[in-house]
Amino acid sequence: MSDCLFCKIINKEIPADVVYEDELVLAFKDINPVAPTHILIIPKKHIPTLADLQPEDAEVMGHIVLTAKELAAKQGLDENGYRLVSNCKDDGGQTVFHIHFHLVGGRYFAWPPG
Ligand code: 5GP
Ligand code: ZN
Repeated sequence: MSDCLFCKIINKEIPADVVYEDELVLAFKDINPVAPTHILIIPKKHIPTLADLQPEDAEVMGHIVLTAKELAAKQGLDENGYRLVSNCKDDGGQTVFHIHFHLVGGRYFAWPPG
C-alpha cells in the first residue's frame, strides 16, 4: 500500500528507530511514547485492521505475540510485566490503518483504562 505510513516505514521510505526486524515483522519505537518502553510491532504484510484478518494470517499474528515476548524480556519487562495492545477501528482508537501491537511497559497501566 503506497499511501500507508507503516508500509513506508517497512520500505525505509520514512525513518524509524527499528529495534527488531525479520522476514515477517518489524518492531520500532513509537514516535509519541506513553511509557518508558513503547514499541510498535507490525506485520510486513499490509493488513488494515484486526477485522480484516484471514486464517492465513495466523502465523504472522502468532509471530508478533512471540516477538513481543522476546522484546519485553530484552527490555527487562518480563518480571514486572507489560501491556500488549492492538486498537481496532474507530471505537478501538485506531489511527494508523496497518495492524500494529503496542508493547508498553516500565510503568503501571490500570485496567480498565481511565
Ligand atoms: P493507534 O492509535 O493506531 O493504535 O497507534 C498508532 C501509533 O503510531 C501511535 O501511538 C503514534 O504515536 C504512532 N505513530 C504515528 N506516526 C508515527 C511515525 O511516523 N513513526 C512512529 N515511530 N510512530 C508513529
Ligand atoms: Zn501498510
